[in-house]
Amino acid sequence: MSGIDLDGSVALVTGASRGIGAVIASRLAKAGAKVGVNYRTSREAAEGVVEEITKAGGEAILVEADVTQEDSAAAAIKQVVDRWQRIDILVNNAGINRDRLLLRMSSDDWDQVLGVDLKGAFLCTKHVMPHLIKQRKGRVINISSVVGISGNPGQANYAAAKAGLIGFTKAVAREVASRSVTVNALAPGYITAGMADELNEETRKRILDRIPMGRFGTSEDVAEAVVFLCSEGAGYITGQVLTIDGGMIA
Ligand code: NAP
Repeated sequence: MSGIDLDGSVALVTGASRGIGAVIASRLAKAGAKVGVNYRTSREAAEGVVEEITKAGGEAILVEADVTQEDSAAAAIKQVVDRWQRIDILVNNAGINRDRLLLRMSSDDWDQVLGVDLKGAFLCTKHVMPHLIKQRKGRVINISSVVGISGNPGQANYAAAKAGLIGFTKAVAREVASRSVTVNALAPGYITAGMADELNEETRKRILDRIPMGRFGTSEDVAEAVVFLCSEGAGYITGQVLTIDGGMIA
């Protein structure tokens, strides 16, 4: 997929200070997009992502925002538009998990995960959409999870948020399809970045046994799919969920 050219496009990647989001931001920049690198708390790490992109000849800016707050999400979109006079791509990647079995899950565990993983995507999408509709061109890519399709013990809040994100994707895709704006979701399986690095050895082995390809996914596996969905060639694909899981839930 290295031939995809996103020169002239402008993207915002939420939660791009580390993990999968950082790699998505770098990969979009490598394809020629100018990128807003959003973070909430990890400023130094986000600065590192911007520096890496700039050193490689790309263009990027730091975008501090808490996606759970409407004013903050709106300001993030505005900052990108003010800098480059347009925005074409939103990747709703910011996400957290607070894993506990249902009976031990507090309503705060529930609210926090739904707040970032679902409401955050809603707020950013709401505020980017007027720009995409006006341009009659745009891409929204929501980073869901296979857990939103299959469920997973200990992740009722996370699974609900990621399943909600799939419903959100399909609804918004139908609303904006006539304006040539596409809205799709990616559902990664276990990716060797961020959240999945917290697993202990025994759990890692148990999971690997369930992956037909016999390996964890990488952030690059996810980033390549993002770049594909942003390409001109993917312009007729909308409302879809693409699993990136080595065949795990096929
Ligand atoms: P990660 O390393 O924990 O990074 C999470 C990112 O989200 C950080 O950049 C963090 O920024 C940001 N973030 C958290 N709360 C935020 C908020 N309120 N506003 C703005 N940014 C916020 O996560 P990851 O493992 O790379 O996962 C990235 C996405 O992929 C998530 O949506 C996750 O659910 C999904 N996913 C991951 C896996 C996996 O195996 N890793 C599998 C399937 C799906 P700060 O550090 O600056 O706060």
